[in-house]
Amino acid sequence: FFSSPHIAMASSPTAKQNALSFLPANGSGVCTLQLAQVNTPLPTVDQVSTMGSAKLGFEGNYDQFLAQSKSQDRLKVQMKNKVKKCSCGKPCAFTLTECNSCGASLVDLEITYTNNVFMGFIYGLQGMTVSLRYESESYLCFDDLLQLSVAHLNCIPTSIYCPDWRLLLKNPKEGLKIVNELFDTCWEAFVKQFYGNDAWRTRMLKGSPSPEALKKHVIAGFNYPPSQYQLHLQFIVPPMVPFHYFQYKNGIHYTPKRFFPIEYVRKVLELNHAVPDVESKGADDIIQLFNGKGVEYDSIHSHCYARYDVSHNELANWNKSDFSAVVVDGVAVYDIKTGSLIPDCDTKSLQATDKHALQSYGRPYDANNKPSTKYYSHPRKEALTAL
Ligand SMILES: [Zn+2]
Repeated sequence: FFSSPHIAMASSPTAKQNALSFLPANGSGVCTLQLAQVNTPLPTVDQVSTMGSAKLGFEGNYDQFLAQSKSQDRLKVQMKNKVKKCSCGKPCAFTLTECNSCGASLVDLEITYTNNVFMGFIYGLQGMTVSLRYESESYLCFDDLLQLSVAHLNCIPTSIYCPDWRLLLKNPKEGLKIVNELFDTCWEAFVKQFYGNDAWRTRMLKGSPSPEALKKHVIAGFNYPPSQYQLHLQFIVPPMVPFHYFQYKNGIHYTPKRFFPIEYVRKVLELNHAVPDVESKGADDIIQLFNGKGVEYDSIHSHCYARYDVSHNELANWNKSDFSAVVVDGVAVYDIKTGSLIPDCDTKSLQATDKHALQSYGRPYDANNKPSTKYYSHPRKEALTAL
């Protein structure tokens, strides 16, 4: 008696057709809908026009720079990265199993050596320009090419060579000073250029946070192994863009035992315990060493990782009317107006188009609607001194 109406419905041929064709299909009982296809120009932040140089530091490429150097042996080491290069073009850390730009599998790719992009910036090699946010004799701060969030910066030291954050452990006091300077440089550039831009702040951030309130939401840290071997602080002010929030929810970003939150790195360096043979240690060795000294990586990482989600949701202000499509579970794309599937939609090119629309990287765009970038104004001439 109780179930008969359901049986009657299930046997009716029209009842089998769902009005919502994107319902969960992967068996988990849940699907995700990610807004895509930006249809409205949203605020972005231009670079400061007086910063940077139109002139390169060296007229030539990596090999040519190396060939004329008086410090070739040291320079050779400094100018190469050990990576897995994804089919999308992104050089990824050799330990990653999925590309952190497009999500493609890296398992079957061979390890290769690529030119160190950050060294190209520091020497001002031909074509090695940045979307510049701050520069001095010691630091260079620029928009990260990936643009995980609405304000995603990177900062590198330009007067010392420090391939990755582990090396800071050789001299923890100096290391902590560098970490704090990297963070402060990004923060100041962010506050002046992004936060100080009223149109950008009021539209991109929910709830008019004060700078102090916002500072607690910053996602900052170092990757080990990195994709480029020069110390670079990842500085990400939430909200993440919808695609990368989806990737985060899938565990693609800030991955455990590779992403070292600044909260962790600071605590480790504050112990002032020098590790002279740190080059021979992997991520696991370092984690174990400092677990034993009371700075527990897993606990700090998982705490930070969960906080990133809270921060995103507290600040995210994405509006469905600014998008024309939804991506279901990262694969199928539906038109928001008609509700119908967009057949054979290339999600990668959709993502690239949205990135181009949402990013502050390379703003203002040039006459061809392409990012504009500049050379570092204080290019180095010889190999950097190791930390
Ligand atoms: Zn990729």
